[in-house]
Parts: sequence; structure tokens; C-alpha cells
Amino acid sequence: MSFKDKIKQIFGLHKNVNADFFDELTDTLVEGDIGAKTAYEITESLEAKCKREKITDTNEILEELKKIISGYVKKTDFLIQKDDVNVFLVLGVNGVGKTTTVAKLANHYNKSGFNVVIAASDTFRAAAIDQLKMHGEKLHVRVVSHQDGSDPASVVFDAGEACKNNGGGIVLVDTAGRLHNKENLVRELQKIDKVAESKASAGCYKKILVLDATTGQNALRQAEVFNEACKVDAVILTKYDSTARGGILVSLGKELGIPCAFVCTGETYADISSFNPEKYISELLG
Ligand code: GDP
Repeated sequence: MSFKDKIKQIFGLHKNVNADFFDELTDTLVEGDIGAKTAYEITESLEAKCKREKITDTNEILEELKKIISGYVKKTDFLIQKDDVNVFLVLGVNGVGKTTTVAKLANHYNKSGFNVVIAASDTFRAAAIDQLKMHGEKLHVRVVSHQDGSDPASVVFDAGEACKNNGGGIVLVDTAGRLHNKENLVRELQKIDKVAESKASAGCYKKILVLDATTGQNALRQAEVFNEACKVDAVILTKYDSTARGGILVSLGKELGIPCAFVCTGETYADISSFNPEKYISELLG
């Protein structure tokens, strides 16, 4: 049963809103990937509000729940300066859909008339470089790559130069996703972060974390680690088509204050859309 159907069931089953109702609601929110801490806080404040304002009608309670959750879910749009060098450092652990997302973004911005360059900076995996070259050919987007095993920051440097020499645009940087431990991650990211920032025009640098919606609260843990290693500006949620839960953006917004920019719902280039919080909440809660 989907998360939305479970919520519907709880609200339908309980004619009286009592402690059992709120306990069941908390359990369901946890099952929906909202996370225990966030779920408890949501139901606590919902219960307090219902008591205070003597709200007993379940439809009204559901509306109050939506209001509380809306306050946590955050959205961001990337404003792109066409004639500047905009650099998006795309982060995330292996398998979340990072390379596919870079290709989707390349297609999206290319179609919107921006000059796009992909930097194949995951130089630890030859397959990732080949994958991006294949996407670049299909999309007619330039891919800057070096040999596998080379310095990822130097790929960003060259891609940044190429973008500048072309009169500006967007550099999409695919990075390695080796999350062995925080110290190594910080060390690996520091240099690439510095070079990426130095190549971007002022205010045109974004660090974007790709999270797989099917990994539930693990995604929140990944966000915590990456955010500590190098402050994350936004997330892109992938594989949203493959989960019946998807509450991760609620705990992400509440615990870390990180907004979502795009949601991906499939494997083709077109399966990416700007994040729409209203649509997300109505899909989540009905
Ligand atoms: P990376 O290791 O993070 O670079 O991951 P990849 O880009 O290679 O993607 C891993 C797998 O996830 C591939 O089979 C992709 O086709 C698939 N994938 C990526 N994004 C999505 C998505 O939004 N929905 C679905 N269903 N699959 C996706």
C-alpha cells in the first residue's frame, strides 16, 4: 500500500481522534521515510494544535498536517546568468543516478538555450567517463575529460576555461561518489570545490547533491555527511518513480534546511522536472 493510501486509511478509520490516532499517524510517517525524529515532532505539534483549537474533524486535521509539512519542505530554483560561467558541482554516492542526472540537466539546459559543458570529473571510474561521452554525443554537448585516474580538479579547470572561452554558460561537473569516510571525502572534495569555485563567476557556483528516493533515511545520512564536508546548496531527488514513500524531502528540509531543485522520475533525458512542493505534498498525503 502506498504511503498516501495508508494516510487515507488512518484518517478514514478513526472517527475519534485520540492518542491511538496520533500514535498510528506517527508510525505511518516513519514508514513513509519521514524519519522518526521529524515524525514525532510533526505529530506532537499537530496534536497540540488540535487540542488548542479544538479541531476534531479528520479532514481539518489532514489539512493541518499538510500545513505543518509544507513548512518543512523547501524548494530552490537555479537562476542562471547566461553570459557568466555557472558551475554546478554534482555530488552523491555511486549508484544514486548522478551521471544520468548530469545528462538530464545537460539536455534540460541545452534545450533552454544555454551553452553547456560537462566535466567528467569522476576520474576514478573509466565507465563513468565513457557514459558521459556517450551522452555528450547523443545530446551534442561538449564533454571535457582526461584519462581515468587523473586529477578531477584539473578536468573542472579545463571545463571552466572552455565555458569562459565560449562566452559563458553552464559547467556540469560529475564527481566521484566514494563515500568511504568523512575525512577522505572532505580531502577529495576540497580541491575540486576550490577550483570549481574559482572558475565560476561571482554568485554562480552551486553544490548539488543527488539523492536516491528509494534509499529512505540513508539518503538523509548521506546528506548530513556531504553537507558537513562541503555545504550543499540543493538536492536532486532521483528514482522518485520507484518509491511509494518519498517522505525524505520532509526530514531533509526540517533537519538540514536543504532545498530541493529537481525531481527525477525515470531513466530517459526528459524524466526530470523542477521541484513543485504543492504537487509533492499532494502526492505524498493525498
Ligand atoms: P551514478 O553511479 O550515481 O552515476 O548512477 P547512474 O547515473 O549510473 O545510475 C544508476 C542507475 O539508476 C542506472 O540504471 C540509471 O538508469 C538509474 N536511474 C537514474 N535516475 C533514475 C530515475 O530517476 N528513475 C529510475 N527509475 N532510474 C534511474
